[in-house]
Amino acid sequence: MFEPVLLKNVDVHDGHLLATYEAGGGYQALAKVLRQDTPDEVIDLVKQSNLRGRGGAGFPTGMKWSFVPKRVDKPKYLCCNADEGEPGTFKDRIIMERDPHQLIEGLAVSAYAIGAEVAYVYIRGEYVTAIRRLEQAIAEASAKGYLGRRILGSDFNFTVHIHRGAGAYICGEETAMLESLEGKRAQPRLKPPFPAVAGLYASPTVINNVETLVCVPHIVVRGADWFRGIGPDRSPGPKLYCLSGQVRKPGLYELPMGISLRELVEEHAGGPLPGRKIKAVIPGGVSAPVIPERGMDVGMDFDSLAAAGSMLGSAGVIVIDDATCMVKVATRIIEFFHHESCGKCTPCREGLNWVVKVLRRIEAGEGAPGDPEQLEKLCKGIFGNTFCALGDGAAMGLRAALVHFRDEFSAHIEERRCPFH
Ligand code: SF4
Repeated sequence: MFEPVLLKNVDVHDGHLLATYEAGGGYQALAKVLRQDTPDEVIDLVKQSNLRGRGGAGFPTGMKWSFVPKRVDKPKYLCCNADEGEPGTFKDRIIMERDPHQLIEGLAVSAYAIGAEVAYVYIRGEYVTAIRRLEQAIAEASAKGYLGRRILGSDFNFTVHIHRGAGAYICGEETAMLESLEGKRAQPRLKPPFPAVAGLYASPTVINNVETLVCVPHIVVRGADWFRGIGPDRSPGPKLYCLSGQVRKPGLYELPMGISLRELVEEHAGGPLPGRKIKAVIPGGVSAPVIPERGMDVGMDFDSLAAAGSMLGSAGVIVIDDATCMVKVATRIIEFFHHESCGKCTPCREGLNWVVKVLRRIEAGEGAPGDPEQLEKLCKGIFGNTFCALGDGAAMGLRAALVHFRDEFSAHIEERRCPFH
């Protein structure tokens, strides 16, 4: 039976307080690394664990840390991506609201490993409770000597600052987030240089997602073998899945990486609503291509979903039932991306504008016979030609809807109405 570790405190009364966190073994990982490990040993441990970034890209965390130059005459920074703007995703919010010390300890151990003395948590501005809880947790941890100067009697100094975002989805892209932190308009930067070499204020910077960081103290305490023993060897560990949409028991689930999508939706989340059937599932937030019901036996890990033509992304699992119009779903999603496009590159800015117009007329029953082909052509023009992954994500998602649910697009055009109304 799988024992949750990342969520073990979230339903505990006063789980957000330092006393509760300490009573459950909190801050032992920080004490352990400061007492007996060098920063390189911590990086090696995380490499051995095969921890891959939980923000969406799945890049190996230990390798990312090892790109930070050892000796530089500039400060190094750790940035926590807590913007969580991907529709269907709410895992980081729950951790920050109900177990914020887990994140602070993850930040402290990770900062020690890369040699940073300052971390910024770039948090979604609407997360008012999470911000308040994190501020309270930072104050408690500072008073107890887990943050500040000479932490637990060591030479390690470390402080955490919270920075509220102003609601732009593009700030989830790491270099746009750095621009925003520097007080500029949030638009992605050209890479290279990569943030590990020239990131925040042109200094070496590591950017990790909340869920990635909270895995780190558990790896320190329980070991790399424990972590690798959960799920597939190439992308192991406990994983948080956000279940939403037309499902009986929506919510946040902690289960092994690699669990099948069908088991997750039908057994853990209770399956479809009464009298309905599942038509499709979006497995990783709206950037991830939709999977039709017949493809639900796929494993929920980076490699299995990529092989199935989708992606794990943020693991925001959105269930869609047979009463839902897929043209409407595709239109709402592309409208979102169009609205959130930062405008820097033409294929995304203009292409999505055009796509929205075609989708809206199909949805309204005013589509022309060649419109699905026109949409395919537009997706081809966007995919692979944009500056960041936002444009690619939008094009991939729409292409999948056109492939798997072409009959619904055709029905709207032929019947000159939405067949689901
Ligand atoms: Fe901006 Fe879209 Fe281009 Fe990304 S793909 S840089 S969001 S315009």
